[in-house]
Amino acid sequence: MELADRYPNLAVSSHPLVAHKLSILRDVATNTKKFRELVRELTWLLGYEAMSDLDTRPRTVRTPLEETQGAEVEPKVGLVPVLRAGLGMVDAMLELIPSAEVWHIGLYRDERTLKPVEYYNKLPDAATAQVCLILDPMLATGGSAAATVDILKAWGAGRIKQVSLIAAPEGVATLSEAHPDVDIHVAAVDRALNERGYIVPGLGDAGDRQFGTFAGPASEPGHAAGDETAEVVRRLQRDLAGGR
Ligand code: URA
Repeated sequence: MELADRYPNLAVSSHPLVAHKLSILRDVATNTKKFRELVRELTWLLGYEAMSDLDTRPRTVRTPLEETQGAEVEPKVGLVPVLRAGLGMVDAMLELIPSAEVWHIGLYRDERTLKPVEYYNKLPDAATAQVCLILDPMLATGGSAAATVDILKAWGAGRIKQVSLIAAPEGVATLSEAHPDVDIHVAAVDRALNERGYIVPGLGDAGDRQFGTFAGPASEPGHAAGDETAEVVRRLQRDLAGGR
């Protein structure tokens, strides 16, 4: 069964501009500046699609000629970039919806277990946004995404959507099984995760490619991966094949 049939919450953009820009983004020859520009442009296009079902309320507006009925977006939208790779998606979203709040969540993946570890969360006690968009360029194992949704649901967010540039099938399955009510908007679903936890063909490390940190510490998936990482990936692949 196709992934999109199994998970109706998954929306893969079919826009030609998205496909075009994503191909340049993937290219190993694309430099950091261009990469950042493309992340921004793709986020704009995916954000436009992801917010197409926001409720609006009527608003009377006076044009230079007469009064007419317009509309304004009703819910307060919260943007939740997952540090650090999600940061590059914030500005584009704020261009689309300047009234949005931005709530940063810091999660990193343990290099061996690929499990998310929370290190930054300053959400106030009660939810202040009705619709939350989680921003993370790569939906890889789905562990960070599911953990972020757990945090936002406990906070009281009404509706939650995940916006990513590329997803692995394993990540779509993990997030959708844990939270079938969360819409997933992506530019592409790639073939698989490799044994180091990278999406293939993917684009490499989205954080390093945005921030030019190719010689940084071994803090990202795969740098110090070993048997444990490969075992986690194999388990996710078995879950996916078995349909859980
Ligand atoms: N995070 C990335 O930046 N790239 C991947 O391929 C997987 C997770």
